[in-house]
Order: sequence, then C-alpha cells, then structure tokens
Amino acid sequence: MRVHLCGVRGSTPAPGPEFVRYGGNTSCVALAHDDGDPTLLLDAGTGLSGVSRLMQGRPFRGAILLSHLHWDHTHGLPFFRSGDQDGAEVRLLLPAQDGATAEDLLARAMSPPHFPITPSQLRGTWSFGDLEEGCFEIEGFQVLAREIPHKGGRTFGYRITDGLRAIAYLSDHHPYALRPGPEGFGPYHEAALALVADVDVLIHDAQYTATEFPERCAWGHSTIDYAVGLAEAAGAGRLVAFHHDPRRTDDELDEIGRSLGSAPIPVTLAREGQSVPL
Ligand SMILES: [Zn+2]
Ligand SMILES: [Zn+2]
Repeated sequence: MRVHLCGVRGSTPAPGPEFVRYGGNTSCVALAHDDGDPTLLLDAGTGLSGVSRLMQGRPFRGAILLSHLHWDHTHGLPFFRSGDQDGAEVRLLLPAQDGATAEDLLARAMSPPHFPITPSQLRGTWSFGDLEEGCFEIEGFQVLAREIPHKGGRTFGYRITDGLRAIAYLSDHHPYALRPGPEGFGPYHEAALALVADVDVLIHDAQYTATEFPERCAWGHSTIDYAVGLAEAAGAGRLVAFHHDPRRTDDELDEIGRSLGSAPIPVTLAREGQSVPL
C-alpha cells in the first residue's frame, strides 16, 4: 500500500507564503496498491487537485470515502480533474445520516444557488452510496468504519488494510465531547482504540496545541497531545499529525515538530505532496 498526502490543512484552505512548505489544501489522502494509480481516496477537500497530478491526466477509477460532509472535506469534488472527465468511474461513499440519500446530502451544498452544478452533473460515471458502521471490502482494501465524535454531522474514522500494512484515518475528532479524559483532551474511547489498534500509521486530527485548547475545546477537534496519546495507547507504529489549523504557519509547525522529538512514538507533521513510508 502507498499513502499519498494530497491535502493536510484543516477547516479552510490556507494560501500564502507562510504556508507553502506544509501546504494549504484541505483534507485528501490517496491510497494505492504498490506502484499503481490511487484507487481509494479519503476525503475530497481541495487536496483532490494533488490526486489529479498523481494521475497525470488519466481518468480516476476507484472510490472516494468521505469521513463527513464539512466543506473542507468536499470542496475539491467539482474541481477533481481526473474524476470529472469522460472515462472516470467513481464510487463515492459517505456516512449515512438524516434519512437522506447520499446524493441528496451532497447536493445540499453542491447545487444552485450554492454551486452551478449538482453531483450527478460531474462527467464520467459517478455513483453515490452511504455507509453504516462495519467492515467493507473497497477497491481491494479491507475497511473498518466506526463513528467518532465531531461537531455537526455524523463522522466516521476509518481503519484500512491491504492485508500487509494498516493505517487509521481520524481526520476530525472531538473526543473531549465525551468527557475530559485522563489529560483533559478527551478519553481514549472504544471506537478510537478499535480503529487505531496496532496500525502501522495513524493519521489524526492535530488542530490545536495544548495551550490553545482551553478556549477552543468546544470547536470539534483534537490536540496534538491527544493524537500522540492515542497512538501510544493503541500501539500505532507512527503518528502523522494532520488537519493543521488554517492559521498555523510553516515556522510554527517547524517549532511544534521540534517539540515532538521527545514523543514516545515517531511523529511526522503531515506535509502536502508527501508519501508516508509504510
Ligand atoms: Zn475538517
Ligand atoms: Zn469537520
């Protein structure tokens, strides 16, 4: 399995000279079998443009698995050059909610007057489906979907394995909504531990520092400290800190990276364009 980080920013894109080294595009992670084209995409933020670069103009054939429906996880869809072309074959899956169809849920944000076209007007062959919690076979990967706390809309974390290596993806996670937990950042709850148990790599929400958390603890996200603690508690081999706050500059991320040198497990700060070693 290959893991490409195509968009690593949280909440809204961060353009500008202070954000070039870590990247300003929002959540999108592309998974490929070995050296092949990516076939399973996690989230469809503006980082989807990076998938089109990986595809070098070829049509995308595979699945997109959305963690939830917030703008920063869907805004790349209508600008996905490799998906919006003849020859593309895309199955888009999202957490079931509100008794609505997947296509209708997406169209609430992607249709006039919010946007000129609807999901079904994307070129190529697109299908839309919803998921409940459970285990699935998608594009040759085994996927475990579990609901995790996050503010505003049903949100899934995913554990994905090709039988040799395993990753967990919890891009937006607000465990503090359950209770303060051992360090005051939220508990290491059952769904999170099940998703992360013994994975090679955990890609996790790292939006806030511990210092920022008291005034932002209700905003729906995690601290970097929580992500480190969860990775350690669940036996993950490595943490990739993801979903950087949109105001976090490259220099500030460098500073955070230095402070994580003493963490109990290896920690990498996610960078757009990076491939994660497995
Ligand atoms: Zn997000
Ligand atoms: Zn979100």
